[in-house]
Amino acid sequence: MKAWTHFLRGFTLKVIYPIFMLLGAFIKSKKADFQAYVVKLNNSLVKKENFTVRKILLLLPHCIQNSKCDIRLTFDIFKCRRCGQCKIKDLIDITEKSNVSVAIATGGTIARKVVKEIKPDAIVAVACERDLSSGIVDTYPIPVIGILNQRPYGPCIDTNVNLNQVKDAIEWFLNHRIQEK
Ligand code: SF4
Repeated sequence: MKAWTHFLRGFTLKVIYPIFMLLGAFIKSKKADFQAYVVKLNNSLVKKENFTVRKILLLLPHCIQNSKCDIRLTFDIFKCRRCGQCKIKDLIDITEKSNVSVAIATGGTIARKVVKEIKPDAIVAVACERDLSSGIVDTYPIPVIGILNQRPYGPCIDTNVNLNQVKDAIEWFLNHRIQEK
């Protein structure tokens, strides 16, 4: 069953996703829906597997930072002064309590660099449909639980995330991991 779901996850990301993106090129209004569907399918398949997890990474988009905040967090999120004007403070608090790594990525290239450096066994990622789906495909076979961001002011500015979804995803990896012998 686990090998089967692992195969299905690979099939979803490496075969179904490119087909959906091809369809999305023709039906542009549906592209984000296709990407969201792939993220949802990936999440449910990840949750049917078990993993050896030593290190979990919470990967966040830079647009979740308050746009009026002048601190540059890209290379060190812990420069945040934790004023509470955006969710960065709460997200750092969550990762400290659960002993999870956390980083901000300004795009796919930085995200790949962060993953290469931290070498996580599992990732909880927050982003828009496009970045989330392509990031999940890029980092396969690392298991990723993707959480779609909220965009009350439109894309890429002062975005938000449901903190309970982040906590639940981290807890899922913490509770369902197979410890190394
Ligand atoms: S919580 Fe951190 S990142 Fe957000 S506005 Fe305050 S100092 Fe800036």
